[in-house]
Amino acid sequence: MRIVFLGPPGAGKGTQAQRLMAEHGMVQVSTGDLLRDAVKRGTPAGLRARAKMDAGALVSDDIVLELIRERLGAPDTRRGFILDGFPRNLAQAEALGPVLAGIGQALDAVVLLDVDLDILKKRITGRRTCSLTGKLLNIYFSPQAELDACIAGGGTLVQRADDNEATIDNRLRVYREQTEQLVPYYQKLGLLRRVAGEGGMDEVYSRLTQALGLAA
Ligand code: AMP
Repeated sequence: MRIVFLGPPGAGKGTQAQRLMAEHGMVQVSTGDLLRDAVKRGTPAGLRARAKMDAGALVSDDIVLELIRERLGAPDTRRGFILDGFPRNLAQAEALGPVLAGIGQALDAVVLLDVDLDILKKRITGRRTCSLTGKLLNIYFSPQAELDACIAGGGTLVQRADDNEATIDNRLRVYREQTEQLVPYYQKLGLLRRVAGEGGMDEVYSRLTQALGLAA
């Protein structure tokens, strides 16, 4: 399947995409991850993107589209993909069509992970990645055993540079002002599926697979 994940920062897009990838073989394509990698490697795109990311603002469409074009052109995306964090505005959504047409693919569904604003803040400030496994965890919500396992294995719980109180409000504002308009956009195209993103990860995953017709 070819899916777009829509939803505010902290809605659980990355977590759910990792599980869909593990259980259904689609490839997770996260523009946030691609950009963080570009920043780490110090590529020209990374150097241009960094300040915007640190401020919680959107990186320019041309940089993001170039990353998406390159990533979707890779052969592993033939078995299906989840676009996580892309598109984030109308211009990106409109540019996606020709990119997909170029590789002979079309979207099957757009999932909106719907989450209450109060929960989002805790999800974002508590979010950590295990340095050993890359697993996404949360100091408020993950089982203590999972957090301990990362540390016992010699890993550390790493917090993203932009997951702090100062940038969160800006990221949520950007979502409301620029990304949320994609909900009616994809609804009109008949692709939108709403999934309540509240509750535990398993609960959300089961709603998600139901909505996508993938439930066992
Ligand atoms: P994420 O990991 O999806 O929360 O993205 C982290 C940051 O990367 C965002 O706050 C933006 O600065 C940037 N970013 C990720 N995806 C996009 C996109 N599709 N368009 C513009 N900026 C993006």
